[in-house]
Amino acid sequence: MKRYKAYCFDLDGTVYKGKEGIASAVAYIHMLQARGIEPFYVTNNSSKTTEQLQASLRAIGIEAPATHVYSSAMATAQYVAHHFPQARVRFMGADGLRQAAEEVGLQLVDDVNVDVFMMGIDRELTYTTLADACVAVQNGAAFIATNEDVKFPAERGFLPGNGSLARLVEGVTGVTPTYIGKPSPVMLELIAQTYGFAKDEMVMIGDNYDTDILSGIRFGIDTIHVNTGVTSTEAAYAKEQPPTMLVENMLVYAALEEA
Ligand SMILES: [Mg+2]
Repeated sequence: MKRYKAYCFDLDGTVYKGKEGIASAVAYIHMLQARGIEPFYVTNNSSKTTEQLQASLRAIGIEAPATHVYSSAMATAQYVAHHFPQARVRFMGADGLRQAAEEVGLQLVDDVNVDVFMMGIDRELTYTTLADACVAVQNGAAFIATNEDVKFPAERGFLPGNGSLARLVEGVTGVTPTYIGKPSPVMLELIAQTYGFAKDEMVMIGDNYDTDILSGIRFGIDTIHVNTGVTSTEAAYAKEQPPTMLVENMLVYAALEEA
């Protein structure tokens, strides 16, 4: 069994479901930390700040340094700052995206005539927010969305993700957004560049084939699919490019490592 230097974990459906930790993943992360390996966390969730993501992990028994937490909010704010310098930006989203935007100095305005409409999940969404989004995009704003997840797993079932909301705006305007989160490999690229990992030293671990596993495949690193969230093992195995490994959960993976 191959040992890696960088274990990149998706969060929702891989490490926790809502507020509940996934015990097998938590145990495996503790095993890595006992080996002196600090895992990375790579989430499409744009709603939480780095501190809030760290608090969610701490609540299920995982201490994660801020330097090892990557979100689609960070990646999206960096993308907009890089590709649209000086832009006036209309924003939809929660604390995570707002803080990321402020950190890179984006000019957020309350207007529908803007250069960029930046869209992340907003759990306090109103009809007016979506209507303004549609008008801003019709008026010519570049449409940039944090992630295309249609749904995410919670305690009571699947809930609508940012991808569902973005598709609503797309349906009204006819404009397809540019999506920044996984399956784009932007966050994995940032980790490799920042820490100097070679691609064969990295692995992406996730429950969702279309986001987690594809981001790893597109970046050119190994992937481990776990059967604890969105995509079933059968569905992931049936893909044209299946994951490098498919396991029920990370304790099964640990047992294979020991065998
Ligand atoms: Mg997931």
